[in-house]
Amino acid sequence: MATSNNVTVIGGGIIGLASAWQLAVDGADVTVVDQGAPTNTTSVVNAGWITPSHIIPLAAPGMVATGMKNLIGRTGAFAISPSAGPAIAPWLAKFAAKCTAEHVEHSAPALKELVELSINIVDGLIANDGLLRTKDKLWMLFTSDNAEHEAKHEVELMEHFGVNAYEIDAATCSQQEPILKNNIKAAVEFATDFGVDPRQFNEIFKKKCVDAGVKFVSDTVVGLDAQTNGVTITTKNDSWSSDYIVLSAGIWSRELVKFVGGNLPMMAAKGQSVTLPNIENMPTHPMMLSDQRITLNPLSWGLRISTGYKLTSSNDLSIEKKAIDKLIARTRTVVNLPEELPVKNELMGMRPASPDGLPFIGALPNNPRVVVATGHNMLGLMMAPGTGRFVADIVAGRPVSREILKFSPARPI
Ligand SMILES: Cc1cc2nc3c(=O)[nH]c(=O)nc-3n(C[C@H](O)[C@H](O)[C@H](O)COP(=O)(O)OP(=O)(O)OC[C@H]3O[C@@H](n4cnc5c(N)ncnc54)[C@H](O)[C@@H]3O)c2cc1C
Repeated sequence: MATSNNVTVIGGGIIGLASAWQLAVDGADVTVVDQGAPTNTTSVVNAGWITPSHIIPLAAPGMVATGMKNLIGRTGAFAISPSAGPAIAPWLAKFAAKCTAEHVEHSAPALKELVELSINIVDGLIANDGLLRTKDKLWMLFTSDNAEHEAKHEVELMEHFGVNAYEIDAATCSQQEPILKNNIKAAVEFATDFGVDPRQFNEIFKKKCVDAGVKFVSDTVVGLDAQTNGVTITTKNDSWSSDYIVLSAGIWSRELVKFVGGNLPMMAAKGQSVTLPNIENMPTHPMMLSDQRITLNPLSWGLRISTGYKLTSSNDLSIEKKAIDKLIARTRTVVNLPEELPVKNELMGMRPASPDGLPFIGALPNNPRVVVATGHNMLGLMMAPGTGRFVADIVAGRPVSREILKFSPARPI
C-alpha cells in the first residue's frame, strides 16, 4: 500500500534520515527539518557498532548494581550530572523498576525483530551502496580476576536468546591484534557483530533520501500544533502544515512532544569519543573492553575510542577534557597507544535514553498524526533502518507486528 501523504520529519539524525527515506520510497512527499550542521550529531559521532547480538534492554537485572559500582568508583563509565535536574529521580526509579528478568523476557523478542529487520537493510547497503564494514567480528575482552566467569556468563546469556557468541582463546587475542597488551584473561567473539563508520552510514542514508526526492530544510522547530487532519510546524523562520509529522529529534523530542500533548520520559545520556589517526597496529576487530567499559572501532581514518554514560541536561554539550583524559588512561591499561597523541578528534553525543531501555516508535495515543521515533539510547545507529521501515508502515496504516507494538509511546512505564 503506497501513501501520498505529506510528511515532515523533525530531526535529521540517523533515525530521521532512515524514516524519511522509507517514507519517500513509499510515495510520501517528505521534508526533513533539522536545526544544525549534520556533521556532529550523535548519529555521526557514535562508536559505529552494528551489534545484532544486543537484544537485551539496558534495563536488565544487575544494572543497578553495575551503575552504583561505576558511580562510586568514579570510573567515568557512568555518572549523574547535577544539571540532570529533578527529572532524574523519577527516571531512575522507573529504570530500577524495569531491571527484572520479566522485563528482559518481554523486551528481547521485540528488540530482536527490530534488529533483524535493520540488519537485512544494512546488508543491502553493504552489497549495493558501498557501505564499508570492519573485516572482522566484535570481540568482548575481559581483564579482571573474574574474567573467565564473566565470559562464560556472557556466552550463556547470549545462548539463551539465540545469539551466536562463543569464547575464544584469550592468549591468541594479543597475537592476532598486536595493539593489545598481554593482560587479556578471557574473550568472547560475537559472530554477527561488526563496525562501520557512522559518518559514511549517515551519508548513505542522506543520499538515499535525496535520490528519493526528500527535501531538506535547515531551521529550528519552535512549535507544533496538531489538528485532526494534520499538524502545523512552526520554525524560527517559517510555518507550514503536513498530514503527518515524524518526531525524531533525539533527546530534544522530549520537549517538542509537549507541544502536541505527549510525554516521553527520556534522559540525555552523554558519551564521548576520540578518533586517533596514524595508529600503529590498527586493529581489524571492533572491541569492547568490558572491565574498562570502553569501545574500540577501527575506522578507515583512525581508531575510534568511546565511553561514558552520563545522565545530564540536553544542553550539556561541552567536551569534557578530564573525561577524555580518563578515557585514554583507561584504554592504555589494555591497548598500546603512543606516548604523544597530537590529534584526538574529540567528540560528544547525547543518547536519548528511555527508562525501560526500549525505543519509542508509534503514533501518540491522543494524536495519530504525530508519529514518534526516538529513545534508541545506545543502539540508534543499528536500529535506525528497521525503525524507518516501521515508521513508514505506521504512516501508511499498514499493520505492524505485536512485538513492534511494545515500542508504542503509549506503553506503561
Ligand atoms: C558515545 C556514543 C556511542 C554510541 N555508539 C553506538 C553504536 O556503536 N551503535 C549504535 O547503534 N548506537 C550508538 N550510539 C547511540 C546512537 O548514536 C544514537 O542512538 C542515535 O544517534 C540517535 O539518533 P537520533 O537520530 O535519534 O538522534 P540525533 O542523532 O541526536 O539526531 C537528532 C537531530 O534532531 C535535531 N533537532 C533537535 N531539536 C531540533 C529542533 N527543535 N528543530 C530541528 N531539529 C532539531 C538535531 O539537530 C539532530 O540532528 C552511541 C551514542 C554515543 C553518544
